[in-house]
Parts: sequence; C-alpha cells; structure tokens
Amino acid sequence: MTNAAQPMDVSSTHAPASGSETGVSYGHVLTPGVDISHRGILYLDSISVSFDGFKALNELSLIVDAGELRCVIGPNGAGKTTMMDVITGKTRPDSGSAYFGQTIDLTELTEPEIAGRGIGRKFQKPTVFERHTVFENLELARKADKRVWPTLTSELDSTARDRILTILETIQLAPEASRLAGLLSHGQKQWLEIGMLLMQEPQVLLLDEPVAGMTDDETMRSAELFLTLAGDYTLVVVEHDMDFVARIADRVTVLHEGRVLAEGSMRVVQENEEVIEVFLGR
Ligand code: ADP
Ligand code: MG
Repeated sequence: MTNAAQPMDVSSTHAPASGSETGVSYGHVLTPGVDISHRGILYLDSISVSFDGFKALNELSLIVDAGELRCVIGPNGAGKTTMMDVITGKTRPDSGSAYFGQTIDLTELTEPEIAGRGIGRKFQKPTVFERHTVFENLELARKADKRVWPTLTSELDSTARDRILTILETIQLAPEASRLAGLLSHGQKQWLEIGMLLMQEPQVLLLDEPVAGMTDDETMRSAELFLTLAGDYTLVVVEHDMDFVARIADRVTVLHEGRVLAEGSMRVVQENEEVIEVFLGR
C-alpha cells in the first residue's frame, strides 16, 4: 500500500510510502519548476500516435498522481511502450497533449531535456558498465552539478558519496559495492540500473517490464524495492507478470488498442467484463 490514494500536498510526496517500515529518507530534492499543486504529475490528454495509418495510441488520456505507483497492463501491441515513448519525447504524438506537472509541455521538449527535468526511464535490457564496479556504476551515473567548477566535479564530494551509499542500501546491493557489475545476476543488474536512474534525481520513473527474466526471489525483492520507492518517487510500471502487479499495484490502468479500457484497483480491473474478454481473447 502506498499513500497515493489519499489526497496529498506537495510536501507529502517527499514522505516515505506509508507501507514502508524503514522510514528512510533519500535526500530527494524536487526539481524546481514541476508544479504538482493539483496532485497530478503526468497528464496525457487525448494522445494519438499513428504508424503508417495504424493507431498505436488512440486518444489516450491518463493522469498519474505524484508519488503514485501505477501499473499499466494490456495485451501485446496495446500501446504501452508507445505511451512511454510519448512521455519521454522519443515519439511525438500526432495530436493530444502531454504535461509534466501543470506547466511543462512534454511535446515541446527533446528526449534529453525531458530526462533532465526529472523523468527517468528504464528499458527492459540492463545497460550497466560491466567492467566497472557497482559503486563506480553509480558514480558514473551521477548528475554532475553544473554550478560547480569543472575541476571540482570530478571529485566525489561527501554528499554524492552519501547518496551513492543510500542508493546502494535501497537497491540492496551494498554488499556488492566493489564487485564488477558484469558479475552480478540478471536481477541485480536490473536493480543497479534502477540505482543509476535514481542517481539522476528523477521525480518520475518509467519502468518497462522490469521483472522480465527474474527469478521468483528477485521478483519478490523487486516488489519490495518498488513499494519503498513509491511516495518518494512516482512510478509507472508496465508489466506482464500479474502476480507481481497484484503485489505492488495501487492503481492499475488497462490499455487496449491504444486507449484506456479500465482503471482502478487490481480487483476492480480484474472483475471488469471487457478486461476479462480482452485477456481471455474471447
Ligand atoms: P505494447 O508495448 O503494448 O506491446 P507497443 O506500444 O510496442 O505495444 O506497440 C503498439 C503498436 O504500435 C503495435 O502494433 C506495434 O507494432 C506498433 N508500433 C510500435 N512502434 C512502432 C514503430 N516505430 N513503427 C511502426 N509500428 C510501431
Ligand atoms: Mg512494450
């Protein structure tokens, strides 16, 4: 359970998820300029994307609240990845609007600009630096402080070091800090990559099939990790593993043929007749 279903003000998005027993603070600082005064942090309104006349997204509308852990499910080809492509600026919609907070028009920003504003994305395949240690991977992913003189940025100050140590704890890789990333298990590489995203101090994390290929144990640990991150961060998770979704989901959005078929708690969505038809292929 996260606190996302309750009304929240700006300060509460920094609080750890109510389900978190650790009460760990991540020293997470809001990027200035993202207005979440209306709770919503991502707004997709009537987005359409066509590929050679085929509508991958068909007037898709979706609002994600700050601090929420949103799961997006749907059959292959439903438009889940395309939706993430629109949010991250990889694909421009033919029509519709996409906003980050109240004021930032995502359709006017480039991919690097969107990442820099605080929307981080993790693709399915882990892309860690295999010949570097776990610690070094996080160090390499750190957001260089452009206000500091270039000669100083190469040194790891204590704040950056503390941040790396905190993230190592969060992703449960502290004991592996000095191991080469190439020697990690598939699941550990995925967590390291999430840690690398966290080093960028994002507000929103988009995760496309994050537990694909993981062992059951790794999948369980990933569920814990995501529940810990929710509240401090907004998570949008696309996943096929329904047990995993049931474990972490706060609100579930079902996409089908490029639009929202159903939305609500896992139970509500599972009992929806249209959803049952789509998933059973009737
Ligand atoms: P999902 O992630 O839900 O499986 P996608 O968003 O990847 O679905 O794809 C939605 C539909 O759009 C699919 O039919 C897919 O073949 C099509 N599609 C996605 N990207 C492209 C592209 N770059 N060019 C042509 N068709 C695409
Ligand atoms: Mg996909």
